[in-house]
This record gives sequence, C-alpha cells and structure tokens, in this order.
Amino acid sequence: AVTETKQQDIIYRSKLPDIYIPKDLPLHTYCLGNKSRQGSRPCIIYGPTGKIYTYDDVELNARKVASGLDKLGIKQGDVIMVLLPNSPEYVFAFLGASYRGAMTTAANPFFTSAEILKQAKASKAKLVITQASYYEKVKDLNSADQEVKLMCVDSPVPEGWFHFSELAEADENDLPEVDIGPDDVVALPYSSGTTGLPKGVMLTHKGLVTSVAQQVDGENPNLYYGKDDVVLCVLPLFHIYSLNSVMLCSLRAGAAILIMPKFEIGSLLELIQRYKVSVAPVVPPIVLAIAKYPDLDKYDLSSLRVLKCGGAPLGKELEDTVRAKFPSVTLGQGYGMTEAGPVLTMSLAFAKEPLEVKPGACGTVVRNAELKIVDPETGSSLPRNQPGEICIRGDQIMKGYLNDPESTKNTIDKEGWLHTGDIGLVDDDDELFIVDRLKELIKYKGFQVAPAELEALLLTHPHISDAAVVPMNDEAAGEVPVAFVVRSNNSQITGDEIKQFISKQVVFYKRINRVFFIEAIPKSPSGKILRKDLRAKLAAGLV
Ligand code: AMP
Repeated sequence: AVTETKQQDIIYRSKLPDIYIPKDLPLHTYCLGNKSRQGSRPCIIYGPTGKIYTYDDVELNARKVASGLDKLGIKQGDVIMVLLPNSPEYVFAFLGASYRGAMTTAANPFFTSAEILKQAKASKAKLVITQASYYEKVKDLNSADQEVKLMCVDSPVPEGWFHFSELAEADENDLPEVDIGPDDVVALPYSSGTTGLPKGVMLTHKGLVTSVAQQVDGENPNLYYGKDDVVLCVLPLFHIYSLNSVMLCSLRAGAAILIMPKFEIGSLLELIQRYKVSVAPVVPPIVLAIAKYPDLDKYDLSSLRVLKCGGAPLGKELEDTVRAKFPSVTLGQGYGMTEAGPVLTMSLAFAKEPLEVKPGACGTVVRNAELKIVDPETGSSLPRNQPGEICIRGDQIMKGYLNDPESTKNTIDKEGWLHTGDIGLVDDDDELFIVDRLKELIKYKGFQVAPAELEALLLTHPHISDAAVVPMNDEAAGEVPVAFVVRSNNSQITGDEIKQFISKQVVFYKRINRVFFIEAIPKSPSGKILRKDLRAKLAAGLV
C-alpha cells in the first residue's frame, strides 16, 4: 500500500505573542465584565439624539431584555431575528439574547419581504424585533407552519404585535439561571461563503470571545481601543464586521460607541467633530466619500486617531490620497470573512506599539491563530510571495453552517482549516496581500451579493432558459452584479425587463446592473458555470 506522506505545512502566525483567552466565558460576561474600565463610563452615544447610556445602563438593559425574552417564551437555543438600523435597542437585543442563551440572526432592514422570509424560516426565528414602518414587509412572517412573534421598537404598535418596552421594562431579577457552554451559538449571520445560497453561519460564544480577544486583549493588543476612545459605529450592526470589530471590541475595551443609524457623509463628519471620535472602522466607499468630500476643511477632525478599513479591497490610490489628507491618522486594513469569525488579519499599525506596514497590505494574521496559503489545485501549502487560497485555523472560526453539514465540510477541512475562497500572498514581512477572489461572491460596497441567489430568481422567469451572474468592476461600488442570460426560444425579452423583474424581489445592492444576452452559458463537464470565462469576457470588453 502506498502511504501518503504529507509535507509539512508552511504556517504563518502573528508577530505578537499569543495571549490568554478566557474561552469558557459567555460572550456577554467576557464583554461586560470589567467594572474598572466600564461601570459609569459612557458606553453608547446615540448620534441622532445625543442620548448617552453608561456601561451600567447597557448591562441592566441587556439583563432586562433577557428576562423579558424568557417571559415571552424565548428559550435557551431559540433564535431571535433583529431587523433594525443601528440603535441602542439593537445592542440591548443582541446582548439580552446572549444572556438568555438564545441566538441572534440579523438581516438588512432594507431586505424585501421575500428575502426576510427566507432567512426567518431557515433560522426558525421565534421573534422578530423591528420597526412598525416595516409592517408590510414582515406582517406575513407568522404563518401556520412557524409561529413568529412580531415586535417593534417604535409606535404605533400594529395590532397583535409586542412593543420593545415589554423586554426593556422586565424585571432583571427574574432572569432564569442559564448554563451557557462555550460551543453554544450566539450569533447567526447569513453568508453565502464560497459558493451557493446564503447560509446561517454559527458563531459560538467561544468563537466570538476568541475573535474579540485576538483583536483587543493583552498588553500590546493588535487593535488598540482604549477606554478613552470614541468608536464610530456607522457600519450596519447586522454585518459581523460591525457587530464584532466595532460593538463587541469596544465593549470589551471599555470604549464609547457612537451609534449612527445610517451613513450620510455630512452628518458623519459633524458627529466625528462633535463627539471627538478617535477610531473610525469603515469600508472602502466611506473612505472614498471622505476623500472626495469638498468641505472637509470645515470640520475639526483632529480627534481622529485610527481609520480602519475592511470588508472589501481598498485601492492604493485611495489609500495614498487619504494618507496625504490625514497625515496624523493611522490608516490600515483588516481582512475578515463572516465564517472566519470574522477577522483573519489586521494591520499591526493599529497595535498599541505599532509596527511599520506597507500600503495595500491587509495586515498580518491575528494572535492565537494560524494562516496558510494553499495551491487551490493541489491543496499543498505555498511559500512566501506565492499567491494561493488563504486558509485560517483557530478557535475563532465558525462552528459550521446551520443544518448544512455538506457546505460545512466543503469550507472547513478535516484538519480544521477554513478555506476562504480568497487568493492572496504573504510577503517577507508576514503581511498579507489579497490579489483575487476564487469564490463566486460579489461585494457591492462591502455588502454580499450571492450570484446563486440571483441566478435562481432569473431562472424562475419563463423567458429565460439559463443565466449566470458575475461581478463587474465599478468605481463607486467596487463591484456590481451583471447577468449573462440565454433567452427561451422565440423570446424577445429585453435587458430592462429582466432588470425590473429582479429589482422587485431584492434589496437595492443585489439589483442587476447590466444584462448580456448569450447563446449558451459556458459550463464545465460537471455542469458548473465557468465564471472565470465570463469574467474574462467582461475584462476583455468582449460583450
Ligand atoms: P463577508 O463575509 O461579508 O465579511 O465577506 C468576506 C469577503 O470580503 C472576504 O472573503 C473577501 O473576499 C472580502 N474582503 C473582506 N475584507 C477585505 C479586504 N480588506 N480586502 C479585500 N477583500 C476583503
């Protein structure tokens, strides 16, 4: 018999030493358990009203919510869905569910009712916390096959709905004892990962504690948030980037979180000035908006210490422009993927004792984790400066996809490595550069667009016999989805009609930007769409 001898993997680790991580603590205890840097200090500042909640207020609210959830019949292991813009209630609901031993799945409140329904059903959400203005979108969620309670944070309260005050005014002392294990799931964001439709990503207490610790714990944290920092929370909390690296990291560090419900460049700059924001985690389109804003000089932005960009690639020219405009601000990148918990790498320029980093780098692997680059064809690990698929291993990664062992197996291999579907290289200084994307995912301003979801919708149209969706580069959005369509026999359907057909069914960033008619969709012998060929056609201007 032939014995397979596996070559030693080439593994990259952080330049900073590993740290102790309290992996057995429930996430809320880990995040809110440091009275010396929390207590009566400001925790949440709500931008639109200026209302301040201290750490004590936040903890009390979260415990009340937990107790209220119990009264409403939400049990340990149940799922609640939060469908809200960034708000204090969002934070209380998430932490309250954590105290209750429940899980939170969050979705974009701009989703259409069909998109919300899919996620609510797949996650078996028992309660949806939203705004009364979304009545039309969610009113049909409660159905014969799934009992869903509906709750709003505002008024008037639609008939049959609950109001958030029933949670916020519950008696925190009624909170039942809950025995939470490190492998219990606390957050259930949806992501399409490397292929297919959006899936529930099971992030555990241990996973999120580890990820937050990897960033902000220890003597010389990778991401230095001090208790005197004011951290901007403009990125949507329904995305794991904001939930983890903005909200949870700030809580753990004892920083104040300035919550903005929606992005608008003028009010963002105004709030940075008014509340002396020192750390701004953003995505490339926000960096672009700041760089291009004509009246930047009208604002005193001198409090800004760190501009952290992630979620999508940041162009070098843009990075240079911002560096020139804000010479005293540390600009750098982080690289995350929902399934990875989400942070894989972070710029060491953000460390308490910063290191020199190169423009365009996405950082170096976080502490207490391993990263390797593999040849996508052979699976063997590659040396420095050679691009390949980025893989990560550590306690921070997801437990798996909800009710989908097959997709889990295809993403996390037997040795515990999570395969990202991103192509990158590690240079001589351990810095990671992302150079391409192997997976199907399209990123519109950092938002996920799953081609498989749009393809499935396109195929429901009687005039479409086949379809494929791929990304096209776009200056403002980074990427936009475009469709290659094969018309059914004798059909004269137009590109505009197809675009309208889709836009009625999806949130704005999943709308198809252009339609190209084609004779046949190129496919491999096994029937897989050859997306690379279609992307090459676009790049070469052959359509
Ligand atoms: P999500 O799961 O929505 O966070 O999307 C994860 C994907 O976004 C990654 O797998 C990358 O393709 C992309 N991404 C995230 N951060 C970066 C970055 N700093 N540079 C380039 N791509 C990024």
